[in-house]
Amino acid sequence: MGGDDIERQAEKIAQLIINSQRCLVFSGAGISTESGIPDFRGEDGIWTKLDPEDFTIQRFVARPEVRKMQWKLLAEGGLTKNVQPNAAHYAVAEMHKLGKLDCVVTQNIDNLHQMAGVPDDKVFELHGNMQYVRCLSCRKRFPMEEIVARLASEELPECESCNGILKPDAVYFGEMLPQAVLSEASRRANLCDLCIVIGSTLVVYPAAYIPEYACNAGAKIVIINIGYTPMDSKAAVRVEGKAGEVMGRVMNHVRGIIDK
Ligand code: NAD
Repeated sequence: MGGDDIERQAEKIAQLIINSQRCLVFSGAGISTESGIPDFRGEDGIWTKLDPEDFTIQRFVARPEVRKMQWKLLAEGGLTKNVQPNAAHYAVAEMHKLGKLDCVVTQNIDNLHQMAGVPDDKVFELHGNMQYVRCLSCRKRFPMEEIVARLASEELPECESCNGILKPDAVYFGEMLPQAVLSEASRRANLCDLCIVIGSTLVVYPAAYIPEYACNAGAKIVIINIGYTPMDSKAAVRVEGKAGEVMGRVMNHVRGIIDK
């Protein structure tokens, strides 16, 4: 897709945002690659470096050596060391400031929407957030930095309250999604009139139900992604391009229309 095409598509998306009363942004790993966090399935995807089996809840609980390896990785900064939001996250935050965002439903665990300025109560994290750690026994939640500080003297930190197993508060394979978050995200998907998908393959379920619910309820669908998604044929606007670049252009048009 050439620059002129992207510009025209960006203008169409801007008009849809201006006309929308309830816009839901659905984001996946692709919105954060321009911040330096690899996606799962791309060329430099996370699974080219780490074994997905180690991120099943069963193996994490059963094998202390797997937990040690993961805490070591986190002590070294993990995959989100020093990352900052990019133009796409800031564009979504600007939509909020302009009163044009109902909420963000994200599959990401990197906290970048909040860092860009979207308030916590507008971000529905379907797969958790790596800024936190949870005890698998008493469910108490701790800030990640508190637990990482303990790694200087402990290889395998345990819950201070009950000695339970601590786990980063991201949803591992084999775990349930947080039901209250999923249910509120689904409710809002059914009510929105515009759903903008940014950087997702739309193949991971139940997360991918969110844009499907929006579409079935009559919302217009916009998809900004590098690569095919199964919902492409349903989209009012489908842009093959980089999230940061496209959303930057979209917001230029939104500002232009508002200032007219
Ligand atoms: P995915 O890895 O399956 O797909 C990401 C999509 O984004 C791909 O189609 C890719 O081509 C596209 N993409 C990559 N860079 C892009 C860019 N700059 N602009 C536009 N598109 C781009 O990710 P997914 O569909 O979100 O689902 C997989 C799982 O990945 C989710 O469960 C999520 O929890 C997890 N995940 C999260 C992070 C994160 O928090 N940043 C990182 C990796 C994986």
